[in-house]
Amino acid sequence: METQDNFAYLLPFIMVTFGCIFLIASRWSGASGRYWGMGYICAALGFTAPVILQGAPPEMGALIANLLFFAAFFLYGHALLMRFRRPLLVVPRLLVSFIGFAAVTYLILVEHDLRGQLIAGDTSIAVLLALAVFMVRRHVRTFADKFLVGMAGLVVIETAARTLLMMLLTSTDAYGSFDTFLASDYAFFMQVGASIVGFLLALTVLGTVMWDIVAEHRHAAERDPLTNLLNRRGFEVMLPDFQRGAVPAGSVVVGDIDHFKQVNDRFGHAAGDQVIIGFADVLRRHLPPSAIISRFGGEEFVAFLPGVTAAEAARSAETARLAFATADWGANGISSGPTASFGVSATAPGDHSAHDAIGRADASLYLAKSSGRNRVGVEKQLAPVAPSLRIVS
Ligand code: GH3
Ligand code: MG
Ligand code: MG
Repeated sequence: METQDNFAYLLPFIMVTFGCIFLIASRWSGASGRYWGMGYICAALGFTAPVILQGAPPEMGALIANLLFFAAFFLYGHALLMRFRRPLLVVPRLLVSFIGFAAVTYLILVEHDLRGQLIAGDTSIAVLLALAVFMVRRHVRTFADKFLVGMAGLVVIETAARTLLMMLLTSTDAYGSFDTFLASDYAFFMQVGASIVGFLLALTVLGTVMWDIVAEHRHAAERDPLTNLLNRRGFEVMLPDFQRGAVPAGSVVVGDIDHFKQVNDRFGHAAGDQVIIGFADVLRRHLPPSAIISRFGGEEFVAFLPGVTAAEAARSAETARLAFATADWGANGISSGPTASFGVSATAPGDHSAHDAIGRADASLYLAKSSGRNRVGVEKQLAPVAPSLRIVS
């Protein structure tokens, strides 16, 4: 008996602690953390309600506890749908809650059927969470996503299994009153089962909340906000390792907008920004899908093309050059279209890092600039890589 009582206080305490952590972390992790937080606090209050309201009529304690569990599971579902950016289905989920709670109220107040009330309550909350799990199941991307959805699914299964087991093991009115129920083994094991999966779900939510915070900061640290390409730091992280084994095969394409200062001077900085965004889009479209493309700074872009030969890289750069040179900038108020120059190189035996190849591509870019701009330069030892190209080296 004593163990049960202590346990009854420990579980809500743990849940409130998690709830508060989620609420605090939601400042950095996004709105779904707020709903997890409110959900866990509701569940904690739901577990404490019958204990706190021991002096009050048992029906009142049962009704309030049910209301709080319904709220908790509604909020869990809300948090899950929000995290995966799925439709929130507020009306259907409220409808399930309303019907479930009406049934529970009827069973408590009219039928005085504790067993029926537990079955109706647990079935409804399982359906509430199952709806959200069902909606997000195809939108799982990361390992953290899988874990979260799996654990929410486990809570649904645990709740449903517990209900089914009780339906099979007990007959109508097996527990005469709420007091006998509170003292029963069933109540104890219900709390043990629910608290284990509830605790595991809380740990998983905590993990995903932290994951989201780290991912967001990493994204901000490694991406260029103007073009959403990798920045120099993000590019470094993505580059293959040259220190282990053979030098990885691949090519480097560097691109730089020609006379960009003049674009800014003639058409304004905002128009210049649009040209940078446009150039990034051209690179995304014309370089191979495997290309690691970065905005190195200003109007300079560097891409590493893993496993791509210099000839293929030069052809891609040439199509990008042509697409950029013939783009229509009328919508941005730019009358004479800007052009860009490119430098291409390939990794070579003896390279210590991709920067060796980048250095050679830069030298080719310099030659492309000095021999008239709006052209693709390919490093000397690789020429001629493609007969249709104007190789400048
Ligand atoms: P070149 O053909 O030799 O490359 O000449 P350039 O004028 O393009 O080269 P330079 O490197 O001298 O000038 C780059 C300019 O790009 C200078 C800088 O004001 C501008 N710039 C750098 N970052 C941004 C940006 O984010 N937005 C805009 N609008 N301009 C930028
Ligand atoms: Mg330039
Ligand atoms: Mg430049």
